[in-house]
Amino acid sequence: MTQYVAVLGATGSIGDSTLALLAAHPERFSVYALSGYGRLDKLFSLCQRFVPKRVAVPDDQVDTFSQRLSQANLDIAVVGGQSGLVDIATDSQVDTVVAAIVGAAGLASTLAAAQAGKRILLANKESLVMAGSLMMQAVRQNGAVLLPLDSEHNAIFQCLPASIQQDNQQIHDEHHGVRHLWLTASGGPFLHTEYADMQQATLAQAVKHPNWSMGQKISIDSATMMNKGLELIEACHLFNLPEHRINVVIHPQSIIHSLVEYVDGSFLAQLGSPDMRTPIAHALSYPERIHSGVKSLSLYDLAGLEFLEPDLEKFLCLKLAREAMQSGSVATIALNASNEVAVQAFIEAQVKLTDIALINARVLEKIAGHPEVVESLEDIMAIDDVARRYASSEVRLCQQ
Ligand code: NDP
Ligand code: MG
Repeated sequence: MTQYVAVLGATGSIGDSTLALLAAHPERFSVYALSGYGRLDKLFSLCQRFVPKRVAVPDDQVDTFSQRLSQANLDIAVVGGQSGLVDIATDSQVDTVVAAIVGAAGLASTLAAAQAGKRILLANKESLVMAGSLMMQAVRQNGAVLLPLDSEHNAIFQCLPASIQQDNQQIHDEHHGVRHLWLTASGGPFLHTEYADMQQATLAQAVKHPNWSMGQKISIDSATMMNKGLELIEACHLFNLPEHRINVVIHPQSIIHSLVEYVDGSFLAQLGSPDMRTPIAHALSYPERIHSGVKSLSLYDLAGLEFLEPDLEKFLCLKLAREAMQSGSVATIALNASNEVAVQAFIEAQVKLTDIALINARVLEKIAGHPEVVESLEDIMAIDDVARRYASSEVRLCQQ
């Protein structure tokens, strides 16, 4: 039976890989809806190629984009803004929502997809960092299925017993014998760079990831290892484990994508070339397998796989993420928001790469006394807003 897919964040890096897979398997998948934000020429080309039924653009672009589509004789309904994304994510014709918008902008539509009981392929890790409990509750209550696209989480998913996979990955100690999860991290472009030199890092150096080709924000998060911090929080929610049961190991080759350690001493790992088409193909076709176009891993060429302990002083963001997870939702929401502001300030050359962690640390200190009431999307966005204001004032202090 054809699966009708909405790709939210279709113009991005995950969008590219997803659409390549959807195009390669037309007998299984139909592209029902797409969304874009800044790169609307690219979105227009995707509309010409895939002719979806619906497309989402920023609010102020709806009229222009609609006209452009009609001039090209494309009968595609255009919706705008966050409400348009929510509309698509909950459309009764949609089976699968690929949540591939970057940052907090992806939260409302991902949560709505969970509330509508969709099959969600989750790339937007920020939505679990901000709203983990709410998301997992919505998934459970509405019969949604949440399949991780993040390569580490997808690897862990693949190494878990089928009973956990089918129970939305919730690990319950009495039955499953999982001791630890091990998230692998490449260490990013500055793994072997001294902290003093990291302070001088340019944007071009920071986004040049050694193994993966990704969007700008996640590339910078990889350079600071905030990405692994966000993934740690993502894993806690996704797999129902406290942070102290989840270890991070630096594995610069990015061949082992993560591991599950069991109480009998077994470690199960998932290996593959670092190419997002593998986890996306896995999640799209789960529980079956489809060709992804990824070249086979040549085991004979794997000379040496290294495993190192992360330096938490140099990569302070990872330590902050652990502390935030211990502290609770207000802290994880604030950390995510602060990080988005600080990363944007680095992109705009207002702060140094190493300032990102310092800004995040100060925002976490400031938010510490904030009452812990996180029961709705509105509560989350209110904390997000306060943290963004704290972060913006920290950015200004860094510039003085
Ligand atoms: P990109 O920057 O390449 O793409 C981001 C997408 O989000 C684009 O389609 C962009 O539209 C859209 N977008 C940006 N801002 C907004 C907004 N305010 N409202 C609506 N849409 C918006 O990022 P990636 O594809 O690399 O990453 C997407 C998500 O997947 C992130 O959460 C990332 O952490 C996660 N992820 C990515 C991996 C990767 O390999 N790339 C691996 C694992 C997780 P436009 O381009 O038109 O502006
Ligand atoms: Mg990842």
